[in-house]
Amino acid sequence: MTADNETFDDLRSGDSDAPAPGPPGPPGRTGQSQPEPMERLVEEFTRLPGIGRRSAERMAFHLLKATPEDALRLSRAIADVKEHIRPCSICFNLTEDDPCRICAAPARDASTVLVVEQPKDLISLEQTGMYRGVYHVLTGRLDPLGGVEPGDLTSEQLLDRVGDPARNCRGVAVREVIFGLNPDLEGDSTALYLAEQLNRHGVKVTRLARGLPTGSQLEYASKAVLADAIQGRQAVDG
Ligand SMILES: [Zn+2]
Repeated sequence: MTADNETFDDLRSGDSDAPAPGPPGPPGRTGQSQPEPMERLVEEFTRLPGIGRRSAERMAFHLLKATPEDALRLSRAIADVKEHIRPCSICFNLTEDDPCRICAAPARDASTVLVVEQPKDLISLEQTGMYRGVYHVLTGRLDPLGGVEPGDLTSEQLLDRVGDPARNCRGVAVREVIFGLNPDLEGDSTALYLAEQLNRHGVKVTRLARGLPTGSQLEYASKAVLADAIQGRQAVDG
């Protein structure tokens, strides 16, 4: 928040590359090819994943031509997401209501918890329509070389849910934990690390079948591959 304000204030009070103090020069003297607010919008767009400078400029010009209502609808949508979407206190899926709709739904089998890395993986699995249990979003996977430790994930909260039914959805005891992590080295070692601790709680620990090719990403797998993977899940020896 502070950093944002600083950036904003910096930009408002002038470019740091601006010429030395003195009477303001003619427009364009700082070398910018377009007005400063436009340049700032382009820069914000280039921070988004997969957006290069050219796409960012195209989007900025599109908004410039749009009606004020259309352009402000985008800014309101961004503000709403930041204000109203938060992680579910049980499963860490992103949600407007807490607990989320999946955790609260009586039709879901809360004794089966499918562990995924990110909310986007949960969405992919939900789209198969094959899974009736609940989820746990780890918010990443262990990567000791990259500095991601168990404390950076929601692994403690997963163990709490398994250890105490009151911490799980609708107070139901967990009987099975399925690992649906991305099938690569980090995903596998994260599952093994957690399986070791989960086995002590006496729950069944499984992982999605390897219909998913090693090195692939869950979010890009087809519905059929994901459906096979759920049905053919296997025990994890921790
Ligand atoms: Zn939830």
